[in-house]
Amino acid sequence: MTELITGFSMVKTYRRCPKAYEYKYVRNLQKKKPAPPLIRGTILHELLNSRALRAMKRPARPARSILADYEKQYGSLFREEQEVYGEDFLPNIGRVWEGYERTYINDGWKYEGTEEEIETQLTPTIKYHGTLDKRVVTQKDGRRWICDHKTHKTIPDEEQRFSNFQILFYLWAWNREHPQEPADGIIWDYLRTKPPTIPEQLKNGQLTQRANLDTDYETYAKELRRLRLDPKPYEIYLQELKKRSVGKFYQRIFLPAPSKELTENVVRDFTQTSQIMHGLKVYPRNTTRDCSWCEFYRLCGAELRGLDYKFIEKTEFIEQTVKEEFSEES
Ligand code: SF4
Repeated sequence: MTELITGFSMVKTYRRCPKAYEYKYVRNLQKKKPAPPLIRGTILHELLNSRALRAMKRPARPARSILADYEKQYGSLFREEQEVYGEDFLPNIGRVWEGYERTYINDGWKYEGTEEEIETQLTPTIKYHGTLDKRVVTQKDGRRWICDHKTHKTIPDEEQRFSNFQILFYLWAWNREHPQEPADGIIWDYLRTKPPTIPEQLKNGQLTQRANLDTDYETYAKELRRLRLDPKPYEIYLQELKKRSVGKFYQRIFLPAPSKELTENVVRDFTQTSQIMHGLKVYPRNTTRDCSWCEFYRLCGAELRGLDYKFIEKTEFIEQTVKEEFSEES
């Protein structure tokens, strides 16, 4: 009997649109030039992985060298391609990363694992396969956690987080396969992909003190230093920024011991969707106004209209199995 594999990206794609699932996981089509959010998520995950490996005293490339490699790749793109990503694309990722390192320099985490593969049998014919971002122990209380890094333009609130319970499934799968070293809970580790705004200098030479400036203390103070401005007149504003900066660009949300019912429901829903997904013979479209965001938009539209979609498929896609995706979410 053939064993079928399921995973969270598969199920998420299928729930959004069965046709997109077919393109991605049945026909194995991948964009030759991935969209900026996917690249951004991938680079940040690579940096997070290397940070954890260093903490575990395992061989790891320094962040500088990872970013330098992407700089090289970016430099070899055509001008029009560079325009898709924008000239600040990589410097902004570098700034997001610097902020993360600064925020969590003494986070008291002991890393036990990074990018660990995990498998567990869901039904006699369907196996779950996934990757745990991190497994950590918080030194202050000795608790073990499964951590999922999430890259977002805006950090989601509690209600939005409710739609993202895949990490509960990871916790369940880990504890099921490792009863000797169970995890106590989960951590959503949010990184905002829009870096703090660098404050503009006004005509009178001073820095703006706009109330709604989307920045943080460090960025503002750094700009004052760069322009050699006296920080005294900015003291109150800087104190305000210090308070406002907490949790604005980086947030770690802990959920210790999620309830048995919540976990069981997440696992059951996931298993049922996986069964439906693998039993399909046809993959209907779910056309919505969000289609314009879909990576298969042009291909799907051409096929739907009976146009030469094969040309688009050949020029814009390659056939390759998707492994793990780290695309940021909006
Ligand atoms: S464009 Fe819309 S209908 Fe077509 S695959 Fe994407 S989400 Fe589905």
